[in-house]
Amino acid sequence: MPETNRRLLLASRPEGRVSLENFKVDEVEVAEPGEGEAIIKTLYLSLDPTNRVWMAGDSYLPAVKKGEVMRGMGLGQIVASRSDSYEVGDLCVGMPGWQEYANTADAATPWNVLPRGTGLPPTTMLGALGMTGMTAYWGVTDVCAVAEGETFVVDGAAGAVGSVAGQIAKARGARVVGIAGTVEKCDWLTSELGFDAAVCYRDEDFTDQLKAACPDGVDAQFENVGGEIMDAVYELLNTHGRVAVCGLIAGYNEHEIPKGPTNFGKMIFARLKVQGFLIMDYAGRAGEALGEMVPWMQEGKLKHEETLVQGEVTDVPETLNMLFEGENRGKLILEIAQPDLGVPEA
Ligand code: NDP
Repeated sequence: MPETNRRLLLASRPEGRVSLENFKVDEVEVAEPGEGEAIIKTLYLSLDPTNRVWMAGDSYLPAVKKGEVMRGMGLGQIVASRSDSYEVGDLCVGMPGWQEYANTADAATPWNVLPRGTGLPPTTMLGALGMTGMTAYWGVTDVCAVAEGETFVVDGAAGAVGSVAGQIAKARGARVVGIAGTVEKCDWLTSELGFDAAVCYRDEDFTDQLKAACPDGVDAQFENVGGEIMDAVYELLNTHGRVAVCGLIAGYNEHEIPKGPTNFGKMIFARLKVQGFLIMDYAGRAGEALGEMVPWMQEGKLKHEETLVQGEVTDVPETLNMLFEGENRGKLILEIAQPDLGVPEA
């Protein structure tokens, strides 16, 4: 059994960028698991824009309170168990929070044990086959309900959700246009992920380039960013266009959420469907999504990209900032320990 657990307790609500100073680094003993409990060692922490939302105030979940372990998703390995549900060595995905060890009994949501022998790297279960991949899947197939031959546009396209959303829309037969923050990211989207076109929002003639990339207008918009980028895509929406409002990252470090579409009336005359959604709403349907996504991944139609940073639990706040500074490609993950090699990989 490990002896100590380092954990980050929220100490103050950040203004703008997050820093370690917003947390108290606390060290506690790891208690033996009680009957029916297991201890999980955190290996990989999932860095998500929503971590920033949870620090700021109440949203779709109550804000993390000052003095509480910072809420966060991750992948860990069982190191001690007195539960029939977990064996020592199992790799599990859940909500360890920003700490080195967690007890299964403290989880607000259940831990999912990864099946062994799939041949897929375990971190795909945080990315393309995990929460962000599921978000992409349901946003594309259910909220956007994208059909063959339609034009689909996604912003934040080189990130965890966006890169998978574009590939799913492509697999469903759409013409896919991505929006990202650098020319290198745009090149990667078209050359490696099969997007039909990609436009850099930092270019001065961004709106002209976007228009040229969508000669038949836009049928489905997958919105990750908000503000001016959202508005530029919205302006190109066709009659009966759909907008999946997934996230508004442009505002998460600000006091105000980004402005919505300027031309609100267009919703009426173009009969648009604009729908916000949360992955939590699809919690019971992961099997359906994986049934389609795992074969796509095995056939090479769906690529999982990750930016893996190595560090320790005290590095989480600085690593989180990478999301807001565009320093990640695909899923951003902090590795704080590696799986025990004596145990077969998931
Ligand atoms: P990403 O991996 O996409 O990382 C964030 C990316 O956003 C960055 O790499 C950066 O790329 C871009 N970005 C950051 N700030 C800005 C800005 N001000 N303007 C334009 N682009 C910016 O994160 P995720 O894939 O995890 O999340 C993407 C979105 O999906 C977020 O809005 C998130 O909140 C949302 N989400 C929603 C869920 C739901 O249930 N509704 C579930 C999961 C995520 P670049 O270099 O291109 O600027």
